[in-house]
Amino acid sequence: MINESTNKTITNHNQIDEGYIKYNCIWEKASPPSEVYLTEINHWRQKLFELELIGVYKDSGIGYGNISTRHPKHNDQFIITATQTGGLEKLSKNHYSLVTACSIEENRVYCRGLQKASSEALTHYIIYNLNNRYNAVMHIHHHKMWKQLQFKLPTTPRNVTYGTPDIAFEIKRMYDRNILESRIIIMAGHEDGVITFGNNMDECGDVLLHYLSYISV
Ligand SMILES: [Zn+2]
Repeated sequence: MINESTNKTITNHNQIDEGYIKYNCIWEKASPPSEVYLTEINHWRQKLFELELIGVYKDSGIGYGNISTRHPKHNDQFIITATQTGGLEKLSKNHYSLVTACSIEENRVYCRGLQKASSEALTHYIIYNLNNRYNAVMHIHHHKMWKQLQFKLPTTPRNVTYGTPDIAFEIKRMYDRNILESRIIIMAGHEDGVITFGNNMDECGDVLLHYLSYISV
């Protein structure tokens, strides 16, 4: 529906990347983020795609994985891969969306770009809110990593569903207990789901590759 006062499209997004997450996306169709801000994120997105940490489940056709970076000039905003881009081999600036605000309580994401932000933007938002030094977030899917590292590294409970306010409170609680120095979270309630974060894109990616190297095949 269109909110006439703001001319923004409001979508109750039932059909999303990973099938079951419901979030309210308030999307302003606008120019995509400038390429100037996308070099590093796109470099890492490509790498993660090649490693199949971002991709598409062949049986269901559902895309998975997303990556974001804090906006260098607007500290409270971040740039994230757009919804349903998991299966695309190469991304251009058109496949990125700027998240300008979020409401955890209302499960609501405000974004701008040619496409809507990933349905998992809210979890990225939670990480950026923990600490101003975190400037990069990766959310990937890897079954063995998820299974083998569960409860060995910081893990959100099985009964906490991804993309809900509960996950925000869990992550905040983990941060307050100082157990997020490892900069990785395994999401027991979100099959195959792993999050890493860091001061910059390289650090975030290195954390991910570091733990990936421990996984036995
Ligand atoms: Zn996921």
